[in-house]
Amino acid sequence: MALRFYNTLSQQVEDFTPASQNTVRMYTCGPTVYDFAHIGNFRTFTFVDLLRKCLRANGFQLNHVMNITDVDDKIIRNAVASHQPLAEYTKTYTDAFLDDCAALRLERPERLASATEHIPEMVAAIQRLGDGQHTYASDGSVYFKIASFPQYGKLSHNDFSGNLAGARVDVDEYEKADARDFALWKTPKDDEPFWDTAIGPGRPGWHIECSVMAIKYLGETLDIHAGGVDLIFPHHENEIAQSESLTGKPFSRFWLHAEFLMVEGQKMSKSLGNYYTLRDLMGKGHAPESIRYLLASVPYRKSLNFTIEGLKSAAIAIKRLRDFKLRLETERFAEGLNEKMAVRTVHASQAFTDSLNDDLNTAEALAAVFKFVRDANSAMDSGEFRAGNTPAALEFLALFDCIFDVLKPSVKAGGLSDSDIEERAARRTAAKKARDFALADRIRDELLEQGIVLEDTKSGVRWKRK
Ligand code: AMP
Ligand code: ZN
Repeated sequence: MALRFYNTLSQQVEDFTPASQNTVRMYTCGPTVYDFAHIGNFRTFTFVDLLRKCLRANGFQLNHVMNITDVDDKIIRNAVASHQPLAEYTKTYTDAFLDDCAALRLERPERLASATEHIPEMVAAIQRLGDGQHTYASDGSVYFKIASFPQYGKLSHNDFSGNLAGARVDVDEYEKADARDFALWKTPKDDEPFWDTAIGPGRPGWHIECSVMAIKYLGETLDIHAGGVDLIFPHHENEIAQSESLTGKPFSRFWLHAEFLMVEGQKMSKSLGNYYTLRDLMGKGHAPESIRYLLASVPYRKSLNFTIEGLKSAAIAIKRLRDFKLRLETERFAEGLNEKMAVRTVHASQAFTDSLNDDLNTAEALAAVFKFVRDANSAMDSGEFRAGNTPAALEFLALFDCIFDVLKPSVKAGGLSDSDIEERAARRTAAKKARDFALADRIRDELLEQGIVLEDTKSGVRWKRK
């Protein structure tokens, strides 16, 4: 099955290929680094990671840009409250975000772009919008005149005709029914940080940063633009208005939006206080791969209700798959090939790929995996499964793990990283050479306590996790 996605713009499922050559030019809205991200945010970022992996599995290369919003109302408020310079404050949360992404095994986009590193380009874009009569100034701020863009509303499918003129808004997020002229450039209030520029002192609005950075790095028309559903309006609608007013070209061919992670019927959000950060959950002993699995298991266009029970089930599902893999790797099966099992493996693998290509239907893809595991386990129990069936079964698991990426256990929080272990093993070797056997033994015992076994072999010291 050809790869296809639901496009918010057309409200249709459409076959996807990149516009030119084999590279997908993709922009996804990144975090606002004012605090630790919660796992609701990570539902959207996990969806983006799955999207990347499925695009790659279809043979495409990626040129993916994600922004880091490192200046906005909330950031300024928090930085001022903590008496920290803006850059220092945002670095803490940018680093935390990237660490969390790594724990969740989210691939780094080809480029991360911070808003504050693109101020001159934003100023130039605002000036060009002004030249095209799309802006006006008021009290030192500059606003986008949405009446100058008659297609306003085409992404959110709101009919704003008749009320495109007049009211304006200074905040970045507002209600869906409101067509408002939004701020491109905000004049500083009180002692807010600002940039001194040709359009006056101030800072950019949230929307202009994405338009400018997307066009700068990916060109005037993207293949895919994605984010959470709360970004459809006003953020993405405003990005379209700005970008298309600048270039006269469609801003993105495909618009993909992930539904919310919910808690008891409400969106997980900072403001409702019903959120967990990744650190909260890992601190309670949940493995990051269980969280990844849970977030990935429901197709992105369906909302997903978060419960601790659900997280425990995710851990059980992963264990089942790891046990199955171990069985494939360690059990001795009778020689030969079971034809029926071989055909089932091919079918399972096809069903897995087809489901993902069908607008990333992860639930059906997982169903194909577990049906296969069930069938193969019972074929093993009955002796039908043969040694010749093993390579294809392992290949199927590898295909699964290319996308879901949960089979390899994470190093436990507080546990030793590979390089820590290597460093200690080297110290032990040095101690032995110096005939300090007491120290060498102590290092070996300490490692053993942490579940690391050292083996002296002819070719040197090897280690493994118990
Ligand atoms: P922010 O840091 O607030 O700009 O949000 C980062 C990303 O997380 C955006 O793409 C949001 O749409 C997304 N997001 C926020 N809350 C949730 C939620 N409860 N479930 C899924 N995605 C969310
Ligand atoms: Zn954006």
